[in-house]
Amino acid sequence: MTKIQVYEKRFEALTLLRLGLSVSIVSKCSELPPSFVREMHKKLFLTASRSGPLKEVNGILKNTRVMIQASIILKNYISIGNNIFKEVDIDALIKAYDIYSDCFYRSQLDKDNLWQSISLNHAWQLCRGLISKEIKLRVCPKGCTYIESNNQNLKLQCQLCYLIKIELGRIKKRKRKRRLKLAE
Ligand SMILES: [Zn+2]
Repeated sequence: MTKIQVYEKRFEALTLLRLGLSVSIVSKCSELPPSFVREMHKKLFLTASRSGPLKEVNGILKNTRVMIQASIILKNYISIGNNIFKEVDIDALIKAYDIYSDCFYRSQLDKDNLWQSISLNHAWQLCRGLISKEIKLRVCPKGCTYIESNNQNLKLQCQLCYLIKIELGRIKKRKRKRRLKLAE
């Protein structure tokens, strides 16, 4: 490896650490040893990095709302990325994550307790799930892209259509209650 290539890898690692990616992920992306990246993290943030195993895909995809958000990230990631079923295209992931974050905050979902955003680290894990075939993208009859994961606890279905159905049911119920109250 030439000196320039080494500098490029270190620069990439710094950029990824600044974006909040964990030491183990940055080490995998930059091909720099974890000990070196850990040291970099320490110098950059003046604190030790949090270590621990990466979360399993099914641990991330724990509810309907997370599944919907994961579908948005992965749909954009697949359309932007290259060779994504072989390795994580980190540049494509960052772009797809930016689009998703923008949607998330513009929709003010951060102010709704029911919606918890997906972190960039977890998004990276989801991309790995495409490689390991733990995650597959499907299209529902209404045209939404949704994800299915091996061993998921939720029913295999389009989570967006499911959520819309549930929400519409709630609105109808509320309207019926209001009508009954007025009729009393
Ligand atoms: Zn659907």
